[in-house]
Formats: sequence, structure tokens, C-alpha cells
Amino acid sequence: MVNHMRHNRSRVGMTRSHHALKVQGLSVCPDCQAKRLSHKVCANCGKYNGRVVLDVLAKTVKKEKKLKAKTEAAK
Ligand SMILES: [Zn+2]
Repeated sequence: MVNHMRHNRSRVGMTRSHHALKVQGLSVCPDCQAKRLSHKVCANCGKYNGRVVLDVLAKTVKKEKKLKAKTEAAK
């Protein structure tokens, strides 16, 4: 660390005042009215721009199957 890099607590605080995380822009899905991230596929209905992109049902079935296998293995 070079001497000119040394800060006092006030300067550190002033810098960190800009480090807060901002909430990502949420928008409402036009098809199912669920909240989704803008420019992302809706996780609730699997649609993007009015078009089905993601098979949500197949994904949940697969997830449940995986969870079931995991709990069976734990026994
Ligand atoms: Zn949706």
C-alpha cells in the first residue's frame, strides 16, 4: 500500500455510500401477471414476448423427480 492510498474513515464511508445494491428492475408478465425480471423468460409460465420458450411443467416434474430420488437415497 502506497501512502497516497491511505484513507481516513470519513473518506472510506463516502466511497462506500455508493456501494449499496440496487433492486433489479421487475416487470409484470403480460400473460400471467407474475413478477419477472425484465428481458428474461417468465419462470411462472415460461413465455417470452408472447411466445412459449420454456416448458415449465416438464421442468417442475423433473425437479420433483430429482428431489424424490434425493430423499430416497437419504433413507
Ligand atoms: Zn408469465
